Amino acid sequence: MPSMAFSGLVSRFVLPRAGSEPEQLTIVHAGDTLPVSFVRSPRARRVSLRADAAHRRIVLTAPMRMPIDKARGFAEAHAGWIAARLKRLPERRPFVDGAEIPYFGQPHRIRHRPDSRGTVWREAAEIHVAGHAEHLPRRLRDWLTAELRRALVPLVQAKAESVDRRVRRITLRDNRSRWGSCGPDGGMSFSWRLVFAPPEVLDYLVAHEVAHLVHLNHSPRFWALARDLCDGPMEPPRAWLKANGETLLQYGV
Ligand SMILES: [Zn+2]
Repeated sequence: MPSMAFSGLVSRFVLPRAGSEPEQLTIVHAGDTLPVSFVRSPRARRVSLRADAAHRRIVLTAPMRMPIDKARGFAEAHAGWIAARLKRLPERRPFVDGAEIPYFGQPHRIRHRPDSRGTVWREAAEIHVAGHAEHLPRRLRDWLTAELRRALVPLVQAKAESVDRRVRRITLRDNRSRWGSCGPDGGMSFSWRLVFAPPEVLDYLVAHEVAHLVHLNHSPRFWALARDLCDGPMEPPRAWLKANGETLLQYGV
């Protein structure tokens, strides 16, 4: 994700009092007021701006001791970037009757079926959800998560077996900063949102994490193995993620 930062000299060593600072700043730019979330971080060594697509916000992060006016000045100096980035944040696409969502990359229409029994089922290019409307988002998400698990588990197992490794546990979570991860204990986690992505993207991400079972780094040997483990060429799914990854965050929120 694009971000920018600069290392400013710290002019005053005054720690802000907890609760005394706003969590939201407003930056005025070309007649517009731009909302910016303000956070202090003990790990930040400089002030920075980043787009948080998952939460549809721009975040200004400042070191603990930097005066807030200095941090605000940094945001003001980059108001043009903030305005442009806010415009590019993906729109929210909540789970409601009639909405369209991708299911493994194929567009599907959500159909609420209040009078039907059962829970969730797929027919042609539609996903039907029974029950009360207020339960629709949760039911659909649970179903989508289960569908992803159904596709993911055999894929992970087959690729892991081919490198003579075992995966102990596969966890699906709403991880918004990375699509997959592989722990040193042989546990893997993936974002449930990959159910929206085309199958070759899922295939690449599984190949990537399984390759980490052998190489805990991104060395040339790691990439060679990841490439071998992909069913098809590795570049198209990587390019897809780079160009479209953020759009996976817009559904069901
Ligand atoms: Zn990696």
